[in-house]
Amino acid sequence: MEFMPNFQLHRPETIEEALQARTNNDEALYVAGGTDMLVNVRRGIEQPKNLVDLSAISGMKSITKDSDGLHIGAGVTLRELQDHKAVVKNYTAISQSAKAVAGATHQMYGTVGGNLCLDTRCLFYNQSEWWRQSNDYCLKERGDTCHVAPGGKRCFAAFSGDMAPSMLIYNAEVDIAGEGGVKRVALKDLYKNDGLDHLSLKTGELVTGVHLPQELAGDPSSYEKARIRGSIDFPLAGVAVRLRKSADGSIEDLAIALTAVNPYPQIVSGLEDLIGAKFSEESAIRVRDTVRKQAKPMRTTTVAPWYRRRVVGAIAKRRAAGKAAQARKSR
Ligand code: SF4
Repeated sequence: MEFMPNFQLHRPETIEEALQARTNNDEALYVAGGTDMLVNVRRGIEQPKNLVDLSAISGMKSITKDSDGLHIGAGVTLRELQDHKAVVKNYTAISQSAKAVAGATHQMYGTVGGNLCLDTRCLFYNQSEWWRQSNDYCLKERGDTCHVAPGGKRCFAAFSGDMAPSMLIYNAEVDIAGEGGVKRVALKDLYKNDGLDHLSLKTGELVTGVHLPQELAGDPSSYEKARIRGSIDFPLAGVAVRLRKSADGSIEDLAIALTAVNPYPQIVSGLEDLIGAKFSEESAIRVRDTVRKQAKPMRTTTVAPWYRRRVVGAIAKRRAAGKAAQARKSR
């Protein structure tokens, strides 16, 4: 059995107080719902002397709508998000992603910001202290060898958040608060292809909200993940698809993003030539093969990489074909 170590808990009520608490306490960590972070602290993967609890910041807990689109606070829970009418109706994949995270109790506490900033995962990293110690740890934490690719100096731990791919297909942007104020950046720029250090956040910076553009509201979309236990697990592979058709039934816009098959949530490239044509069996196969080529799962889960690559392609093909068969959106 593992016990929680001692740490100092800070409970700011504003974003400014949170940044200050982080600045005042070297190497403090932010914690939102804590559904993943607290497990890592208990296992000794994270050993913070200070935790900055974001749950009392009311300014990060609202969902608002205006002519620019939908604005979601980073502190909104996955439970609140999945049932929000505008999300269900206009950004369907995002609602489906929120419903797909872990289990129902995790969704009550887990937050949008927490899921977007989820640490990368690996079979050799998300283990107990004694397990990791008996394996001499690994590159990502206290060790000098990667057990997945022993000859290399890279970490291939997989990004395993469910929310990011569904937000990426809607060209989401995030607000990042830091020393210089708040900046808005494309969500895709929040991530790096590096399992050791997968977020582009500078020390102390905090994701405070997400923006979804109005011009894509209502585009048909969906999210599906493969996992071992359907009631709780992280994705072994996850796919979000947004596909809009024009009046004549040809594809007007298509976006696909993946999770759990790379160290970062990936937007699939190279599908531009499908735009303007009717979606056919050949298009579906093209989607499947393109996705399989770009997904690079490694031996970071109990399930073999070749299987996850096959699964991610199959989900993409099925979901794209399903959206292509759906009626044109009404604008
Ligand atoms: Fe450690 Fe390698 Fe797994 Fe990264 S991919 S967590 S370095 S074993």
